[in-house]
Amino acid sequence: MGNIIILDENTSNKIAAGEVVERPASVVKELVENSLDAGASVITVEIRNGGVSYIKVMDNGTGMEEDDVVIAFERHSTSKIRHADDLENISTIGFRGEALASIAAVSSVQLTTRTGKNPHGTSIEIQGGNVINVKPSGCPVGTTIIIRDLFFNTPARFKFLKKDTAEAGMVSDIISRIALGNPQVSFKLTSNGSVLLHTPGNGDQKSTIFSVYGKDTAKDVYEVKADERIKLTGFVGKPEIARASRNHQTIFINRRFVRSKIITSALDEAYSTFLMKNKYAFAVLNLEINPAIVDINVHPSKMEVKFSNEQEVFKAVYHAVHNALLSQTQIRSASPAESIKNPYRMETSFVKPEYRQQSIDYSKSGTFEEDILVKETEKKIELKGDDNSFEFEKQIVVTQGSEEPVLVEEKQENRSGLLTDAKIVGQVFNTYIILQQDEELLLMDQHAAHERVVYEDLKERIEKSVPIAQTLMSTFVLELTPQELKYLEEEAGTFARLGFEYEPFGSNAVILRTAPYADDLNPREVFLELLDFFMSSGRTDKKNASDEAIYRIACKTAVKGNKRLDELEIKKLLQRLAVLENPYTCPHGRPSAIKISRYGLEKMFKRIV
Ligand code: ADP
Ligand code: MG
Repeated sequence: MGNIIILDENTSNKIAAGEVVERPASVVKELVENSLDAGASVITVEIRNGGVSYIKVMDNGTGMEEDDVVIAFERHSTSKIRHADDLENISTIGFRGEALASIAAVSSVQLTTRTGKNPHGTSIEIQGGNVINVKPSGCPVGTTIIIRDLFFNTPARFKFLKKDTAEAGMVSDIISRIALGNPQVSFKLTSNGSVLLHTPGNGDQKSTIFSVYGKDTAKDVYEVKADERIKLTGFVGKPEIARASRNHQTIFINRRFVRSKIITSALDEAYSTFLMKNKYAFAVLNLEINPAIVDINVHPSKMEVKFSNEQEVFKAVYHAVHNALLSQTQIRSASPAESIKNPYRMETSFVKPEYRQQSIDYSKSGTFEEDILVKETEKKIELKGDDNSFEFEKQIVVTQGSEEPVLVEEKQENRSGLLTDAKIVGQVFNTYIILQQDEELLLMDQHAAHERVVYEDLKERIEKSVPIAQTLMSTFVLELTPQELKYLEEEAGTFARLGFEYEPFGSNAVILRTAPYADDLNPREVFLELLDFFMSSGRTDKKNASDEAIYRIACKTAVKGNKRLDELEIKKLLQRLAVLENPYTCPHGRPSAIKISRYGLEKMFKRIV
């Protein structure tokens, strides 16, 4: 007997399932897209255990005739195309006719459906690809499908699933995106009985943004509109609500949710003078492109889209977004980056604390707050006022719950030569400090230097398990997406180690209780930065991830360039730098100071040859 056999249909469906059905979120995506293709205006999704044990999708679409029900589950069965020619002109989202067959091959399915023409509907049960029964059933017009025990017969796939909360997060992410692209449809998602998302379906995309991201985001978006060859509608966020990952960028082409490097780089470009590096604008963009003009290719599962004319797409997006930004924002005569440097500054205020709570009153910019004594401790925290709220001689850290102030080991020994004895010549461009030390000229980048100081300090405290959390005395409520909330629920330990403790607040927010004690830290900004970083990095390597996290805290916290520092502030910075092993590089290895020797200068000026 030969070695080659033809796989039976069940087996080949199971294999095909590997391509379409990766996890609960991909099942939900296929099912919801079918509901949309069937013209539903209300779609309800229920999941249990992240969708692994149970997914139910209910719609009020056209439904199916009895004859079509069985066929729908066969591979390559679709009502959406008849011939290869039809591929040129597809208005529906699905057309490959693979989803139902693939899903049914790896789960137990129960589907009930009725069209408006029929007085009664049909119900079908399929297990691992085998039809168990088909019978008439009383039901409303539309389709309800229940998927149980996903991957029960493909253990290898099952093993790849993440924790239920993570799977639920991915389901809510995909539903959120689809909901954003279909504001005319009301979506409701419940997970283990609690409602994660409910959109009004009133046709208004901004209302959907409100439902998905909360009111804080919805009030901070600008409308985008362009009616050229490529039609563009949607919303982009004010620079203030930009995030450290692209999670809050959603793009639809002809109503299909896609990913596109060309479009995201056009967004970056449009925002380039409005945002700092590594910040990504909030965006929900709908492009309508006639496939006859621009050929569009979508990778089926990755949703990555390619265009035959990338330039045209790039320009269309760039101009539409840029125009929206320019018409909405007063162009600032000063550097735009400057004015958004600390967008949440106004909300940040550490109110003078009760007994034993250390006080840093950042709200009183411009005043000189100092010498806040904690209990009887003699050590003092000296705070320089001014907008920087530089804090140089940190010697105590008081944390919530600890009976006594915790002393951080003092490293007064000057390890790096004579930095503290250097003559301060001045500051140039409000960014670089010029020092003279013996026969050397030192040019120091104030941001890199301060970043290093904060980084080393935090890192040491975390490594020595000195608690770094300090209770926040004012309220920081952060509205987040269901996916972000799930993530925070799971990773509470990771955040706690970095000084952030939080609790759920209502159904769509968390309230920050603590933040790490570090110079001039803006809890909201730094917390969101870390959330985005962790969520987008996947965090495989814990050690490196937390090192990177500490670096990010330091970077956000350190004094920026373009900030005037007076001599006292410079002096204090030098003192803190001086005790570090290597004060001359920033945590990422960029130089924080450049040395030029007298000899070098003399050579440059050809005093000596
Ligand atoms: P495709 O969507 O690519 O056509 P599917 O396997 O997802 O393939 O679905 C097969 C067919 O089943 C669809 O073409 C459609 O006719 C029918 N169908 C699936 N889901 C629904 C639904 N919710 N309402 C009405 N018809 C549906
Ligand atoms: Mg489909």
